[in-house]
Amino acid sequence: MTRSLSILGATGSIGASTLDLIRRERGAWRVVALTANGNAADLARLAREFAAEVAVVADEASLPALRAALAGSGIAAAGGASALVEAASRPVDLTVAAIVGCAGLAPTMAAIEQGRTVALANKEALVSAGAVMTAAVERHGTTLLPMDSEHNAIFQCLAAGDLAHVRAITLTASGGPFRDWSAEQLAAATPQQAIKHPNWAMGAKISVDSATMFNKGLELIEAHHLFPVGLEKLRIVVHPQSVVHSMVEYRDGSTLAQLGPSDMRVPIASCLAWPSRMDTPCAPLDLAALGELTFRAPDEARFPATRLCRQAAEAGGAVPAVLNAANEVAVAAFLAGQIGFTRIAVTVEELLARYAPAAAATLGDVIAVDAEARSRMRQMMELV
Ligand code: NDP
Repeated sequence: MTRSLSILGATGSIGASTLDLIRRERGAWRVVALTANGNAADLARLAREFAAEVAVVADEASLPALRAALAGSGIAAAGGASALVEAASRPVDLTVAAIVGCAGLAPTMAAIEQGRTVALANKEALVSAGAVMTAAVERHGTTLLPMDSEHNAIFQCLAAGDLAHVRAITLTASGGPFRDWSAEQLAAATPQQAIKHPNWAMGAKISVDSATMFNKGLELIEAHHLFPVGLEKLRIVVHPQSVVHSMVEYRDGSTLAQLGPSDMRVPIASCLAWPSRMDTPCAPLDLAALGELTFRAPDEARFPATRLCRQAAEAGGAVPAVLNAANEVAVAAFLAGQIGFTRIAVTVEELLARYAPAAAATLGDVIAVDAEARSRMRQMMELV
């Protein structure tokens, strides 16, 4: 039976891994919408290859290039924020939400409102709009599948038991490329060094997040919404080999873990085939060759991001949206060479101390807080 699929963020790292799996089972899928920000050439190439119904660039300035690249193909081309939301609203069996940043929030919510199945990679959307998004999932009877490798691991481990019996959930963290660096070395870290992840090939923003440990902190907030066991039961452990993707400990002392290669095609395949299974081209785990798996506590003195994220989750309301927006601005400034690596966490903490947002009850409220936090962050960092 053919299933319909849309990919929001098709030209990114998650988009490429998803399409790699779709390509191997071409007959099983009908591709409806593929989206990008400004990369019209790659988007048009993918839309043609997968015979998509519509291709959308969020950045309207890229629409003429997209139209030209799709001329004669019969594929509809569109551009701008509302076109993105319209494409995400087209009913499909599965939407892969893989836009980076809070920019993915509105289209992801539009997909959720269709009441079908949404596989969520776009963690920033859930971090910013946690309560609003989980309420929409509930209201529309949507199935939300976690695509992030840690949350997908937890989701799989929870298939064996009930949330009510969970004693703890442990997110594993590789520790990123700087896990063994001194404070002095961290202060001098460059964007090139930060985006070179030791275990995973990912987009630039999440690679920097992994180096600062904001990625793990955002994942803690994400887990808090996806698996509501209480923040005090959510833990983080550094596991440099990235083989154990996360663990669930039950009240009887049983701990279940999900293991696999450091290849996003494994959790993506789990979402594509759920509740069944599918083949992937990933090499099977060879534990004897790996030799040993190691674990250690995170160092929040060198990497304060996980502390900031836990505090934001404890504060609740729109505070995580402020934290996320501040981090997105700081990461962009770091990648542009405007601030040093250790300034990312320092400036995020500064904005959190200065800006106490009103509660956000609707999608519009969250988007307004996100915009306000970005503007204040840029001013504070004198990037305006
Ligand atoms: P990439 O940077 O590789 O890709 C991002 C995608 O989003 C691209 O298609 C990009 O289009 C599009 N995009 C960027 N900005 C906007 C915007 N303002 N509006 C609309 N679309 C936009 O990111 P990743 O694939 O690495 O990550 C995507 C999401 O998945 C992130 O939330 C990340 O945290 C999460 N994730 C990623 C993992 C990974 O291994 N990469 C693992 C787990 C989670 P364009 O190409 O035109 O710029």
